[in-house]
Amino acid sequence: MQIIKSPKMMQRICQGLKREGKIIGFVPTMGYLHEGHLSLIRIAKRRSDVLVVSIFVNPTQFGPKEDFARYPRDFKRDRFLLEREDCDFVFVPRVKDMYPSGYLTYVNVDKITGKLEGAIRPGHFKGVTTVVAKLFNIVQPDVAVFGQKDAQQAVVLKKMVDDLNYGVKMIVAPTVREKDGLAQSSRNMYLSEEERKQAKVLYQSLQEAKKLIKMGEKSSNKIISRMRDVIKKQPLAEVDYIAITDAQTLEFLNKLKGEVLISLAVRFGKARLIDNIKLKVD
Ligand code: AMP
Repeated sequence: MQIIKSPKMMQRICQGLKREGKIIGFVPTMGYLHEGHLSLIRIAKRRSDVLVVSIFVNPTQFGPKEDFARYPRDFKRDRFLLEREDCDFVFVPRVKDMYPSGYLTYVNVDKITGKLEGAIRPGHFKGVTTVVAKLFNIVQPDVAVFGQKDAQQAVVLKKMVDDLNYGVKMIVAPTVREKDGLAQSSRNMYLSEEERKQAKVLYQSLQEAKKLIKMGEKSSNKIISRMRDVIKKQPLAEVDYIAITDAQTLEFLNKLKGEVLISLAVRFGKARLIDNIKLKVD
């Protein structure tokens, strides 16, 4: 496994691999790896000749009051896990090489980035699309794998790839969860013991929604109100939003129909957790 810091060097290597006709699989991450990341890495590995994983805590996707500085980092551990997955290249650029002084260019996807997470975290998706566009230009992947855990991010990045004619096959992999249903996340480490216990309520509320929908409930208001009741039972939970939207356009739905995304963000002390499920409703 080679560790590459320089964007130029990484690009040169990938250009060489492309000339040899190698299929490049790519998984962008912010590190502090967990089983969720590893599941994406295994999918990318199966579908490619050469696997590149990037670790970059991208400052442009964090708001000024967000957790960029304290976002967990542990490169030694990440390197060990990636070796074990037989990763070929780890790309770990420095902030000053990705955004040198005088940097001026950003990629923005309209409309769908103003909803859900984008409504609460202005500028977040502009940071995400910009860094992924740059990483795609450097790594030139044939296949890239993202997690359904960040449902809106997956929709936004697929749109960017379509609109800007990136010839990258985008794969979205299922959310990997802890035994009690909590979605794995690097940010779970912010949770105290008690908060961690209560955090399973995100998944429980999604399961409650699923149950209601199976019983024929089509009213978003009713489903959301039941989800709020489930979450209220945990005193440390503070709901940021619960939304039922079309899974592609991310438009709010009053009545459930078609492919539906139920997503939520809940705060526990310092941690802000997100989760979602996608369902087909006739
Ligand atoms: P991050 O390091 O949080 O930026 O995540 C890197 C990639 O891993 C993104 O595509 C995430 O959607 C994905 N991911 C994060 N958590 C999970 C999870 N629990 N299950 C599946 N994919 C995940």
